[in-house]
Amino acid sequence: MKIIMLGAPGAGKGTQAKMIAEKYSIPHVSTGDIFRANIKNGTELGMEAKRYMDEGQLVPDELTVKILLDRVAQDDCKNGYVLDGFPRTIPQAQVLDEALTKLGESVDYAIDVNVPDENIVKRMGGRRACVTCGATYHIEHVPPKKEGVCDKCGSELILRDDDKPETVKKRLSVYHAQTQPLIEYYTNKGILKTVDGTVDMMDVFASIVEILG
Ligand code: ADP
Ligand code: ADP
Ligand code: ZN
Repeated sequence: MKIIMLGAPGAGKGTQAKMIAEKYSIPHVSTGDIFRANIKNGTELGMEAKRYMDEGQLVPDELTVKILLDRVAQDDCKNGYVLDGFPRTIPQAQVLDEALTKLGESVDYAIDVNVPDENIVKRMGGRRACVTCGATYHIEHVPPKKEGVCDKCGSELILRDDDKPETVKKRLSVYHAQTQPLIEYYTNKGILKTVDGTVDMMDVFASIVEILG
């Protein structure tokens, strides 16, 4: 099963993608996580991506597409995957479709986690991310057992630089301009499913499971 998660920054794509990955035993592939791992390891790719991420801009398609295609060509992706944060532009979606067509495959579902902008800005200020394992928390909705410490690995939790309010507003405008057109793209392909992302995360997950079966 190949699934794409769509939605504004902070809509809950990552939260849901991790639960989907576990339930359906498929890898969770997040381009944002791949970029952050590269930044942490000081790779050339990481340094290039960081310039855009810090500004709330998208990393150029060329770079992003290569990373993603390499990742989904790996063995663990044979039985499918859930993509979180990719595609984010029409050209990215087209490249993915072309690559899959060559393999005689296609995306099964594009799930849009729908959350209005007003809720997003509030939500992002409370997001905390683990510097080591990428786990995410929320100071009100999903607090860690011990403040500032990751439940899973014991590392420090931080507010991502790009989760500060000014950058979040920039990212939202980038989302509306460049990513939202994908909703129509996947509607036209007949695979778009929309879920209400404003409710409790377990209720969001229940609606997704209903779709995926
Ligand atoms: P969120 O899920 O909160 O929107 P991500 O971790 O998915 O955040 O992405 C963080 C940043 O990484 C984005 O703002 C963008 O700069 C970059 N990025 C991630 N995925 C892509 C992509 N598919 N295309 C371009 N840039 C991306
Ligand atoms: P995205 O990957 O779309 O950027 P995340 O999954 O990282 O979004 O979620 C953004 C923030 O909102 C995180 O702090 C997360 O814990 C929290 N969150 C996720 N889903 C919900 C929900 N349904 N209700 C409230 N908070 C949520
Ligand atoms: Zn951790």
